[in-house]
Amino acid sequence: MPFCENCAKFHEADAVGRKGDCPTCGAVIAPPKKAPWHFKLLIVATVIYLGYRLFQLIFWLIKVLGH
Ligand SMILES: [Zn+2]
Repeated sequence: MPFCENCAKFHEADAVGRKGDCPTCGAVIAPPKKAPWHFKLLIVATVIYLGYRLFQLIFWLIKVLGH
């Protein structure tokens, strides 16, 4: 979580601007966000896929252990 010395407070990473600027005073308090939106989409897709595989594994375990 980036800290702004001007405002003397912590800011949520999501609230910080794309250039790493403070949402209140505009001072740069974090490195610029390099991850483009499609990279985030890829991460979300990966998480959903892994969750789906985990779901499958749980169902498989229930099926195997049920016998
Ligand atoms: Zn600030």
